[in-house]
Amino acid sequence: MENIGLLIEFKDGQVKNANFGMAAAARKESRQLVALVVDASASDAKAALEAHGVARIVNINTGNHGWNPAIQTAAVVAAMEKFGITSLIGLTSPAGRDLLPRIAARLDAPLIMDCTEIDLDGHRVKTSQYSGKTIATIVLTGSHFIYGIRANVVAPLNDPAVAEVIDFSFERDRGAGYQMIETRSDGSGAQYLAESDIIISGGRGLKSGKNFKLLFDCARHMNASVGASRVAVDNGWVPYAMQVGQTGVKVNPKVYMAVGISGSIQHFAGMKTAKMIIAINTDDNAAIMANCDYYAVGDLFEILPALKKALAALKG
Ligand SMILES: Cc1cc2nc3c(=O)[nH]c(=O)nc-3n(C[C@H](O)[C@H](O)[C@H](O)COP(=O)(O)OP(=O)(O)OC[C@H]3O[C@@H](n4cnc5c(N)ncnc54)[C@H](O)[C@@H]3O)c2cc1C
Repeated sequence: MENIGLLIEFKDGQVKNANFGMAAAARKESRQLVALVVDASASDAKAALEAHGVARIVNINTGNHGWNPAIQTAAVVAAMEKFGITSLIGLTSPAGRDLLPRIAARLDAPLIMDCTEIDLDGHRVKTSQYSGKTIATIVLTGSHFIYGIRANVVAPLNDPAVAEVIDFSFERDRGAGYQMIETRSDGSGAQYLAESDIIISGGRGLKSGKNFKLLFDCARHMNASVGASRVAVDNGWVPYAMQVGQTGVKVNPKVYMAVGISGSIQHFAGMKTAKMIIAINTDDNAAIMANCDYYAVGDLFEILPALKKALAALKG
């Protein structure tokens, strides 16, 4: 039976939902899903991982050096060797972008980030290129294969299994490398955009950072995250972490609302895979209007307060 490694990420002590789609992408009778949990509580994650078909959980303990990608990389590579894992899937998230390339470099393995489809038997993946204008099919060759999957491209599958938890200690001197001095949150408490099911984004039409409150007010009622176009970020209205697009975050939500955003190619490159796109714009000739499922032609300063009111009433 082939062992497929899943690099598990946590948020607030819980396994991130996007990991379950990763498990669904890998699930097959002839495979055993092995979750690699680094410096986190595998026992807390056990029930959730079992519900999604994970048969083995490797509880990697590096001696808790805090954020130390060099040590975490060495620990994951050692666990892959120990448990006979040649294919590893992680998320194309900030943590995944940090760790997966290091793991691939260590193993001299091919790496494809931002995969939208993965065929583990043929080592064949699909990923978007040229700002989403083309979809590339890439075949990987080698002895090990590292895949970074785009969050939410595969729906989670309820497929219960019984998992054994194996402790794997990888304690090592910090040596040369990194030392975490301090971490600071931006204070927004916002969910990472790439993993959000519903996103409401604002662009130049919002006219100021202060007006983004209109989006946050609606988002609260929809359990949505708030994103932005590059213009809003370049103007200093919102932080870069909120930028959606070619040079920002690539998102794949169930619903994407573009408010006061024209729909440039570069913005589309980051959100075109959304299952439903809704636009609010005063200009019915804006590019976004021809590329969305629903639109409202009108002034966002009238529509958003009305939307907030309607959402509050629905919730009530
Ligand atoms: C190399 C490169 C990379 C880039 N990367 C990105 C990227 O990652 N993400 C990104 O977003 N852009 C990116 N851009 C910039 C991109 O080309 C566009 O300039 C940008 O997306 C436009 O942002 P916008 O839609 O907010 O502004 P605009 O194009 O100015 O559109 C504003 C829209 O708001 C509407 N509007 C105005 N007032 C109202 C109102 N009261 N009510 C309703 N609608 C209103 C207007 O009709 C208009 O359609 C990149 C550009 C380059 C060259």
